[in-house]
Amino acid sequence: MAERVFNFNPGPAILPVSILEEAQRELLNYKGTGMSVVEISHRSKQFEEIILGAEALLKELLEIPANYRVLFIGMGATGQFDMVPMNYIVDGKVGNYVITGSFANKAYKEGVKVGPTHVAASTKDFNFSRVSKPHEIQISENPAYLHITSNNTIFGTQWKEFPVTAGIPVIADMSSDILSKKIDVSKFALIYAGAQKNLGPAGAAVVIIRDDMIEKSNQNLPTMLKYDTYAKNNSLYNTPASFTIYMIKLMLEWVKSEGGLAVIEKRNEDKAGLVYDVIDNSNGFYKGHAELDSRSLMNITFRLPDEDMEKEFIADAAKIGLSGLKGHREVGGIRASIYNAMPVEGCRKLAELMKEFQSKKS
Ligand code: PLP
Repeated sequence: MAERVFNFNPGPAILPVSILEEAQRELLNYKGTGMSVVEISHRSKQFEEIILGAEALLKELLEIPANYRVLFIGMGATGQFDMVPMNYIVDGKVGNYVITGSFANKAYKEGVKVGPTHVAASTKDFNFSRVSKPHEIQISENPAYLHITSNNTIFGTQWKEFPVTAGIPVIADMSSDILSKKIDVSKFALIYAGAQKNLGPAGAAVVIIRDDMIEKSNQNLPTMLKYDTYAKNNSLYNTPASFTIYMIKLMLEWVKSEGGLAVIEKRNEDKAGLVYDVIDNSNGFYKGHAELDSRSLMNITFRLPDEDMEKEFIADAAKIGLSGLKGHREVGGIRASIYNAMPVEGCRKLAELMKEFQSKKS
C-alpha cells in the first residue's frame, strides 16, 4: 500500500487516521456482537446507542439549545435543496435565497421548482469572490425563510457574520464548515450539512432543526420528504445510512477528544493562516480568489501566473504526498480543502511547497 497522503480533496474528504483505525478494529465484531456494525439491525440496542450518541455529541459540541432536534437524512445536502422548499414554501410564502456560489444557486433552482422564490442577494457579478454584505440583502414580502450557504466550497468564501433577520427563519447549508468553529445555533431555524467533509463519510445529511420548524413543516408531502417523519422516529423510520452515522459518531468523539470547537477553531485559523500568508507575501505570484474579508478557513482557492504552472504545481505537490489540490473548473487553479481532520503539518508542507515553487519560477 502507498503511504497515506495529505488529502486536500473537497469531499469526500480527509478523516483522522485514528477514527479510520477504530472503524477497522471494530469492523468484524462490533462491541462483542460477533457482527459488523454494517451487519447489525438498525433497531438493535447497539445501533440505538450509536444514533442517539451521535445526536447527543453534536448537541454538546455545538451547544445546541434544547428546542432543537438533530436528524439524519439520506440524499446528501442536495436532498435538502428539495426538502427545504417543499416543507416551507406553502400558502403563498416565498423562499428567499442568497446566492453566493454554485451550491447556493443549485439550492435556489430547486426552490424555483417548488413555488415562489426571491433572490435576496447575489454575488454572481463579483464572480462569487465574496459573500453578501448585510445591506445588500433585500427580503421579499411574506418570506418563508432566508437561505444562505455558510461556506462556499467551490469559490472558497465563508460568512464571518450571519445575516440578522427580524423573526424570519434563517436556513443555512453548512455542508463545508459545520463543526469548524463555534456558532450560535439559536440564530438559525434549520441548519443542514452533507456529512462527507467535517462529519464523516458520504451517505447522510445532518439536519439541526428547531421544534417550531418541525411543527410547521408541510404535512401534505410523501413520508420520506417530511421533516416530521424523521423527528417522530428518531431518524429511524426506515433503514438509515448506518455506517455513515456510526462514522459520524466516531468523528464527533474525535472533535471532543481534541478539545472541542474552541481548539478546532483556533487550529483552523492557524492552518489557513499558513497558506494565506504565503499568498499575501508572494508579490502577486499567487492570486487568491476570495476577497480578504470573505476568505474561507476550509477551502483556499488561488491561481498561479498561468495554467501550465498550475499543472506543474499540482504534479510537484503529488510527488511529496499532497493530493487533491486541483481547483474546481468554475474557478480553475488550486483549491486546498483543509477541513478539521487536515493536520497542521499538511498546511505547513503546502505552504513550504508554495514558497519553493515560486523561487523555482523566479
Ligand atoms: N452544499 C455545499 C456547500 C457543498 O459543498 C456540497 C458538496 O460539496 C453540497 C451542498 C452537495 O452535497 P451532497 O453531494 O451531499 O448532496
